[in-house]
Amino acid sequence: MKKAIFPGSFDPFTRGHADIVGRGLRLFDHITIAVGYNGQKQGWIPVEERVRALRELYRDEPRISVEAYNGLTVDYARQRDIHFILRGLRTHKDYEYELGMADVNRQLDADIETVVLFTEADLANISSSVVRELAHFGHDIRPWLPENLTYSLEIEN
Ligand code: ADP
Repeated sequence: MKKAIFPGSFDPFTRGHADIVGRGLRLFDHITIAVGYNGQKQGWIPVEERVRALRELYRDEPRISVEAYNGLTVDYARQRDIHFILRGLRTHKDYEYELGMADVNRQLDADIETVVLFTEADLANISSSVVRELAHFGHDIRPWLPENLTYSLEIEN
C-alpha cells in the first residue's frame, strides 16, 4: 500500500490544502494529514480543534486519517512505515522553502521521498495566513475553507 503523509500547520485548513489532499489520493492509497505542533507559537486554532474538525470533514473517507504530531516529519513517517511526504507548491517562494525542506529530509532519511503537487491556478492565492488576517478583521472566511469544514470556535472574529 502506498502511503503518504501531508504535514503542515493547517491553521486553518483551506481549499488549497483540500485540493492537494484530493489530488494526492490519485497517487496514494492512504494519506495521513499530520497537524504539526509548532514549538515556538501556539497558533490561532488549537491543534486539537484543527484535528477534530479535519476528522469530521473526512470521516467518510477511510483513505484519509488525521493526526497531531510533534518533532520531525521524517521520524514520524518512518515510525509509521510511510515513505512519501506530500506537499503543495504555489509560488517561487514556496519553491525555495520546499526545496530546502526536501533536501534536509532526504539527508535525514533517503528512503522517504517528497512529492510536490502544483496548486490549481485559482487556489494559488489562498494561504492560512491570509485567511487568519481576514478573520482578524471580521471578514467571512467561509469561502476560503472547504465547504463542510467547521471549527467549533468563533474563529470569524
Ligand atoms: P507549513 O506551516 O508547513 O508551511 P501549511 O499548513 O502552511 O504548512 O501548508 C502545508 C502544505 O500545503 C505546504 O506544502 C503548502 O505549500 C501547501 N499549501 C498551502 N496552501 C496551498 C494552496 N493554496 N495550494 C497548494 N498548496 C498549498
